Amino acid sequence: MRIEIISCLRDNYSYLIIDDSSNSACVVDPSESKPIINFLENKNIELRYILNTHHHYDHIGGNKDLKRKYGSEVIGFKADSDRIPEIDILLEDNQIWKAENFEAKIMHIPGHTSGHICFHFFKEKLIFTGDTLFSLGCGRIFEGSYGEMFESLNKIKALPKETKIYCGHEYTLNNAKFCRKYDSKNKELQKKIEKIEKQLEKGIPTIPSTLKEELECNIFLRAKDVESFSKLRDLKDNF
Ligand code: ZN
Ligand code: FE
Repeated sequence: MRIEIISCLRDNYSYLIIDDSSNSACVVDPSESKPIINFLENKNIELRYILNTHHHYDHIGGNKDLKRKYGSEVIGFKADSDRIPEIDILLEDNQIWKAENFEAKIMHIPGHTSGHICFHFFKEKLIFTGDTLFSLGCGRIFEGSYGEMFESLNKIKALPKETKIYCGHEYTLNNAKFCRKYDSKNKELQKKIEKIEKQLEKGIPTIPSTLKEELECNIFLRAKDVESFSKLRDLKDNF
């Protein structure tokens, strides 16, 4: 299984999970169809599944076109089936979705939206976190409570540390500046910022991160209780 990072819109990332043994692929959160089609064109890769973490337009915008072009099946959270366009396969919390060589556990992680899920490809130790966990940040709380978001992040924190984190946006540098402001003595964070700056200078994504790095550097994962987490989230909303 290999992952291709596809830049979409202004700062979104969609991801192709490609199985070279069968020339088939899944796409996670296609913001728009064009960049995905551009990548797949001439490569003879069949786009079989469209995986959506949540219903926001910048994560589902390509569903319709891609389904029409490739006949792919759209996969999303059952409770959000009226908000995920073209949904075919309805998943529940803790369900293991398996098709061909693709296998992922679904985790319901509300907070950013009430129906937000992540896809944990546990065999490959990859997780697609949408707009819940970003590198060095977390999503805004639109439909949930601080407590729900805190619990959702705790679920992700419990995964193996070497898990690679693929999130929905390239927000890492701005997130890093926020972390640095409120965690200025964190040596690991300083190292991570140097790495990020080099990546961005070269024009390459700062994604994937690893859970280990996030546990060391992401101030939202380092918050000890929901009160301190809530304060940080409020500060970040006005940063
Ligand atoms: Zn969103
Ligand atoms: Fe988004």
